[in-house]
Amino acid sequence: MDCIFCKIVKGEIPSQKVYETDEVLAFLDIAPQAPFHAVVIPKNHIESAADISPENSQIIAKIFEAISAIAKEKDLKAGFRVVNNCGEQGGQTVNHIHFHVLAGRNLAWPPG
Ligand code: AMP
Ligand code: ZN
Repeated sequence: MDCIFCKIVKGEIPSQKVYETDEVLAFLDIAPQAPFHAVVIPKNHIESAADISPENSQIIAKIFEAISAIAKEKDLKAGFRVVNNCGEQGGQTVNHIHFHVLAGRNLAWPPG
C-alpha cells in the first residue's frame, strides 16, 4: 500500500518525531500552519474518522493521551487546536487518519 504515513511509521520516509509509543506516533508537519504543528497518527493504518468503530475506537483515546502529553512537553499552556480532516470535502489529503495539533498563534473560528 502506498501510504505516506505508513512509510513514516516504518522509517522509510524521515520525520521529526515528537512522541512515540507502540501504537501512536506524532511528528512535525512538513508544511506547518502555525508556529507549532504536529500530526498524531495510529501506527496501524486506518483510513479516516469515518472508519472508526467499536472495534478500533480505543486508539482514539491513545491519540488524545498523546496530544495531552505533547501539550505538556511543548508547554502549550496558551492553548492549542486539534483538527481531524475527514474525506474530500473535509480537506483530507493523506488517507491515514491523523490529528493535527496547532499552537503558537491565535487560530480563527470558524475555519474556512
Ligand atoms: P490533511 O490535509 O488533513 O490530510 O493533512 C495531511 C498533512 O500531512 C498536511 O498538513 C501535510 O503537510 C502533512 N504531510 C504530508 N507529508 C508529510 C511528511 N512527509 N511529513 C510530515 N508531514 C507531512
Ligand atoms: Zn497508512
